[in-house]
Amino acid sequence: MDTQKIMLEGAMYMETELLLAALAEPQEHVVGQWRFVEGRYHDVPIVVAVTSIGMTNAAAATALGIERFQPTAVISQGTAGGHDPALQACDIVLGKRSFDASSYRSAQEDKVDWRHMELMGSYAYDAATQSFVPQAVYYLGDERLLAAAHLAAKDYRRGRVVDGCIASCNTWNRQKERLQYLHDQFGSSCEDMEVNSAAQICQQYGIPFLGIRILSNTEFRAEEFQPESAQVCQQFVLAVAEQYGKMSNRD
Ligand code: SAH
Repeated sequence: MDTQKIMLEGAMYMETELLLAALAEPQEHVVGQWRFVEGRYHDVPIVVAVTSIGMTNAAAATALGIERFQPTAVISQGTAGGHDPALQACDIVLGKRSFDASSYRSAQEDKVDWRHMELMGSYAYDAATQSFVPQAVYYLGDERLLAAAHLAAKDYRRGRVVDGCIASCNTWNRQKERLQYLHDQFGSSCEDMEVNSAAQICQQYGIPFLGIRILSNTEFRAEEFQPESAQVCQQFVLAVAEQYGKMSNRD
């Protein structure tokens, strides 16, 4: 029996095509409206989930993928926009933590200052009380997956690989002041539209999770979306999966 199976998620076809092409003995599945492909990569059992874009799709595909394929680890990977001004296209952020940037309570005020916001986190399932209750604002990346990513990072030549914080929500921010604020106030390194919702579902199921995001662009350097970055990210993620497989086999 396989000791581990990693579910690798990507939103768009361009964020999953390399993963799909890398699978030996691929087996196609459709669960609900989502495409999953099972296979192996360097003897590591993998299921690739093509989630489509956005928080809701990511959460639904993650839950369905967990129920159907029983992965023992999940990685949500793909492109992101920069929040940390020090980062540039093709730098990779390992999600030591993530938060939902759309989940906030504003201040009560007549004249609007959008910076007056307090993060609220999500209503997530709590096994102890068997109910959905407000949870921590930040979801943490799994330490072993992070360790595997650190090993893979040694061979990464396209930019930097940093431990960081991923701000997720169905938003494409292009306002520098707002990006800088989210970075300064909440510690975000980059923004995407999937990681935190997948992280929540994995936490509810007790499955190790990591978000891995490559900067496709950053407003701080006036970069446009660079589609090639999606491929570079997938190559890195395959290396992480291989390292994770080796670590698991040694245990
Ligand atoms: N640029 C293309 C596709 C991007 S859609 C288009 O316009 O069609 C958004 C996807 O890219 C999401 O899955 C999200 O996770 C990721 N993404 C990349 N850069 C982002 C940014 N600056 N803000 C939010 N999401 C971003």
